Order: sequence, then structure tokens, then C-alpha cells
Amino acid sequence: MKKLLITLILCLTFFFALATAEEGMYPISEIHKLDLQKKGLEMSPLEMYNPDGISLIDGICKVGGCTGSFVSKDGLILTNHHCAYGAVQRASTKKNDYLQNGFLAKTRGQEIPAKAYTVRITESYRDVSEEVLSAVSEKMDFAERTKAIEKRTKEIVKQAEKDNPGKRAEVSEMFIGKTYVLFIYTYLKDLRLVYAPPRSIGNFGGEVDNWMWPRHTGDFSFMRAYVAPDGSSADYSPDNVPYQPKRVVKVAPEGVNEEDFVFILGYPGRTYRHRTSHFLAYEEEIRMPYVVDWYQWQIDVMEKMGEKDRAVQLKHIGAIKGLSNTMKNYRGKLKGLKRMQLVDKKREEEKALEQFINSDPKRKNEYGSLLSEIDKVYKELREQADLILVLTYLRRSSQILSFASTVYEASIELQKDDLERKGAYMNRTFDRTKQRLTIGLKNYYVATDKIIFKKMLKRAAKLPEKLQIPAIKKLIGNKDPETAINEFFEKAYAQSKLYKKNILDEALKKSPKQVKKMKDPFIQLTIELYPTFEKFEEQGKARRGKLDKLYAKLIDVKKQFKTKDFIPDANRTLRLTYGRIRGYSPYDAVYMNPITSTNGVLEKSTGNEPFDTPAKLLKLIKAKDYGKFYHKKLDGVPVGILYNMDTTGGNSGSPVLNARGELVGINFDRAFEATINDYAWSESYSRSIAVDIRYVLWVTQKFGGATHLLKEIGVL
Ligand code: GLU
Repeated sequence: MKKLLITLILCLTFFFALATAEEGMYPISEIHKLDLQKKGLEMSPLEMYNPDGISLIDGICKVGGCTGSFVSKDGLILTNHHCAYGAVQRASTKKNDYLQNGFLAKTRGQEIPAKAYTVRITESYRDVSEEVLSAVSEKMDFAERTKAIEKRTKEIVKQAEKDNPGKRAEVSEMFIGKTYVLFIYTYLKDLRLVYAPPRSIGNFGGEVDNWMWPRHTGDFSFMRAYVAPDGSSADYSPDNVPYQPKRVVKVAPEGVNEEDFVFILGYPGRTYRHRTSHFLAYEEEIRMPYVVDWYQWQIDVMEKMGEKDRAVQLKHIGAIKGLSNTMKNYRGKLKGLKRMQLVDKKREEEKALEQFINSDPKRKNEYGSLLSEIDKVYKELREQADLILVLTYLRRSSQILSFASTVYEASIELQKDDLERKGAYMNRTFDRTKQRLTIGLKNYYVATDKIIFKKMLKRAAKLPEKLQIPAIKKLIGNKDPETAINEFFEKAYAQSKLYKKNILDEALKKSPKQVKKMKDPFIQLTIELYPTFEKFEEQGKARRGKLDKLYAKLIDVKKQFKTKDFIPDANRTLRLTYGRIRGYSPYDAVYMNPITSTNGVLEKSTGNEPFDTPAKLLKLIKAKDYGKFYHKKLDGVPVGILYNMDTTGGNSGSPVLNARGELVGINFDRAFEATINDYAWSESYSRSIAVDIRYVLWVTQKFGGATHLLKEIGVL
């Protein structure tokens, strides 16, 4: 009887625990609707998010494309190593190779400015759907519709920034074509690097382990935000002082255990769960395979170029990391799409929806052609796909072409009224655009650029006749593409000086007329390519306008069908997700435990990159010099944790918080099966990965010798 009772209790506990995980990256407006205390939260939801006072969200920030937490009253931020990577890379030289050896600022004065990094903290939000949509009318064609929405959005942002001096405003589309929210952010522009472990800890396992569990990566860094002495947001200055956050996220050095309730507040990038089977099929059959192939090819080139010279390698290392990361993610997605037959599943869902639509004459009249119209848009996209992909990756792949394009486009855009300009050239953004170019210049390596640009031009030359790009056709003429491109390159790369900072800076001040007069061959090529790019953008806007309308209707009818609340796809705004520390079974007969330890670091270490653990760390592990971070059952320090929360890119660096809202880990990745989260989430395979706070603190103290940081956080 007792046994039966225990089994029953266990079953109930398990059932309850299962029910604790849910799909959902909840906007903060939804937090109060979720009965989180019933699910395991041990604080009032108002302490998490309080629109009228200070709450946990005031301690969470967006750092570049990632998330971070303020862990001290002096603006100290805990985020991922891979989020601070760009700053570490840019500060690294052959002589001071911080990427390789790590970096520690022993005093505040030694902290390194993380150029081009910005920090945002969500202050408030307001639904502006009506204001946005009142800008469109039924008379407009689809491209006009997109432009009207863009313009109205810019107007709202401009007004909001005027009303909130020093703050940043952003209108984020929540449901496509349907709902829009204005967010106001505190915006900080002086961020500095405080501590980054060496690559062999921060990126332990490299691409071999990336997007995989079990994991032993110390993917964390400390940064610090600064403001002007009067507390206002300011660019870097030695006179700046540490930013005082409204709320500090408490660090919990005791960590977590399996099945503990956890939640994440962070800034997930993009998900596509509300798109149809037509979108997914395009992704699976066309776009992702193309990108995987193109990125792999570029990675091979860049790796080869850097083989013999660390300085050259350092120029490419960031790009390689980014390309590899996306590529492996796409491979995971492609595998997942196939394994789960997701496109077929979506089609089934759509069939059921169609039956529902057709079952009512009024509904049929309103929505009857909806899915076939969406299908038509993607069919047209497929017909153009080869050209679209070439145009998308042409400017992105060749740096010199991207410099030239920015110069020409800037000259045109800067002539227009601020609100009429493309986003990158508006008064509020143009400085950042220039800063990004300067960073690009630092990593520019002509030999690599030539190889990559040539490959893309050859792809362009091979496009079917009806998709040919006039400028490329002219460049090739009657010659064989290889010969024509070689001839062009020989002169062009010798002649162009756009990679010189002073020349580029000067060029960015010119009018279109002056730019046209420039003898630079890449500028001239850009001018010829420009009409094609403009047409491509215009077509994109028309497609977008059409899909906006159709997807908005789709959400309407889906709501009627499912009669439940939907959560908008992730869109880089602040979201909550919750769940439990939990293992999973990725394939038959295999069960993965949810916590790894320093013993695993030892097991994986081979002495060779990417498993080349520093000797000092190995010594600490072997000596079991774990101090207060020792975990008895694991007989080591916990390193990685796994949980069933709903995350995506952008959640990198997000705090994993315990039931009391204290930081127990830093989210940095997902398991291979969960790369497909962006299209579909499931409790059975969706697992995300964090570095355990105990490993963070142990490495920082015992390996990094940064005891002062632990004191600053308040854990020593
Ligand atoms: N590791 C991921 C990336 O670099 C971030 C986190 C995620 O996507 O789950 O994109």
C-alpha cells in the first residue's frame, strides 16, 4: 500500500512537473496572466515585473544582440563570453592576445572600452497598433503599405525620443501586420570589458561542442556600463562613471538542482512559429541549404588564409565564429525539420484550419482564399530565389563592396529628410553605421575578400538569363566569367583605396554627384548595381506588405479556431520563459543528465584545440581545489545546466533565475535537437544550456584570481 502511495505521489509530481514546462516566450505584458506561483515561483510576480515601480526586469539588459544582468550596483554586467567576443577580439593583438589568454582588468582604469557595444534596459511599453495601422489604407498597393507603416513607425519613435530625452525608442511588430508596441529603453553607450576567461575555457569545445549537450564551456564574461558623471548616457570618456542600475540581480552561489523551477528574462531574437508550411518549405528546400553551403565555403577559405599567421587569423576569427555558428544551427534545423516532418505536420494543421474556414459560409467568404494566397507569394519567391540569394549575400560577403555600397547609399540617403531615409542612415543611427564600417576596416584582408567576392560574382554570372543582373552582365561582356572577373579585379583592387579609413571617412561626406565622379572601380560597380538592388528592395517591400495583410488575417482566423491566447513570435523584445532543470532523451535508449561537472572537463581535455584546457585549470581540478563551490554528489564543480525553457538566439547571456529570482546560470546555447525551436517547440526535445553560476564564480576566483569581482557581487 505504502509503495503504491509513493508511486502515486511520484507520478503526480512528475505530471505536475511536466505541466510546468510550456511553450512560450511571454512578453512582459503577459506575466501577470500566468499563475507562476502555482508553477513554482517563490516571489510575487510584481517583484519580477512592476510597471509602476522597480522590479527584476530593471536588472536585465540587452547587450548588443545578447542579454546580460547587472550583478553589482556599479554597473557590472554578467553575460556570455561569446557576447563579449567582438570586444575581446578587437582588443587582441599578436602581442596581447586576450582572446587566447583571457583578460582581467585589475582596476577599473584597466577596463577596455568595448567599442560599438550598446546596452538597453526596458523602461516602459505602450500598444501603438492603432496609430501604426491608421497610416495604411485599402487603396495602397503592397509596397506603399509597407512604406507607410515604416514611416509611421519612425514618426512615433521620433516623437517618443523627443518626449524622453536621452532614451531610445523602438516600435516592435508583435503579430505580423497586426500589433505594434512602442518600447522605451534606457540606452547606454560606454561599455567596457572587465574579465574574459581564455578561449580554452570561454569557448571550450569550440565548434565541435557548439549546439550540443553535454557541455563544459565556461561561456561567460564580465563587462561594465558607464555613464557621464551626471548620470546621463554618454559615449566613452575617461571621465565617465559606473552606471548605477535601478535593480541588481542577486547571484546565488549555491546554484540549482535537477527539477528545480527556473525562469529566464531576456531578449530572444526571432522565431517563426506563426508562419505557414509554405514558409517552412522555402526555408528547408531553398534558403537554408544555400546558406549552409555558402557559409561552409567561406569558412574554409578564411581558415586557410589564417593558417600561418596569427594576425591574419585574428582578422577572420570573429567572422568564422559567426558563420560557423549559423551554419551548424541551420544543419540542426534541417535535420530537425526532416526528423519531425514539420512541413507535413504544418500542412495537416492547415488542412484542419481550412475545413474550419469552409464550414461556415461567412468565414469562407472572409478567409477562404487565405492559404492559397500565401502559397502564391512563396511560389513567386521561389521563382526569384536564385537572384534573391545572390543579391542578399553579394554585399554581405565582400567587404570592399559593402564599403562602396555604404558610401553610395549614404550619399543618396543623406539628401533626404531624416524620416524618409533607410534606417542605417537616419540621424539616430548613422554614427553607429560608421562605427561598424570602421570595425569592418580593421578586419579587412584583401586576399580573402578577392576570393570570396570572385566566387559570388561567378554565381551571379551563372544566373539563368531571365534573372541576370545587368551590371554583372556588362562586367562579363562576351568573355569567359573567370577571365573577365580576373581582369576587373587586377585593376580594381590595385586602384581602390576605400579600405583606408581617411578615404572612406571622406567618401562618406560626399554628395551623389561627387560620389559618381570618384574613380574608384568598386564605387562605379556599385552605381551600376544600384538599380537592381533598389528593385530588389522594392519587390521585398511589396511582398512584405502582402504577407503582412495575409498573416494578420491568419492570426484572426487561427484565434477563432483555437480559441486561445497566442503569444507573438520572438522579436528582440523582453520576454519571460520558465521551466525546470531537466534532462532528456534525444534518441532511442539514450538519456542525458541535466548537470555536468568539472570531471567532464577533465574527460574531454585532450591538450589540443578546442579541448586544450589551461594547465592551471587542470591542476585546480586534479587538486579538487573547489572551495565553497564543491558539489558533493558530482564530486566537482557543476559546469553546465540543461532545462526545458523556450529560448533562441539573443537569449545568449540571459540570466537563468531560481524560484526567488536569483541568478543560477547564464544561458548560452541549445541542444542540437532544439535548434528547431525557432519553428516549433516541444517539451520532448527543446532543451537550452547555461553555464552554471558555480563554475563562473569558481573560474573567476581560483583561475582568474579576480576575487575582487566576487566581492563586488557580494558572494565572498
Ligand atoms: N549559442 C546561441 C548562438 O550563439 C545563442 C543561444 C541560442 O540560440 O540558443 O546563437
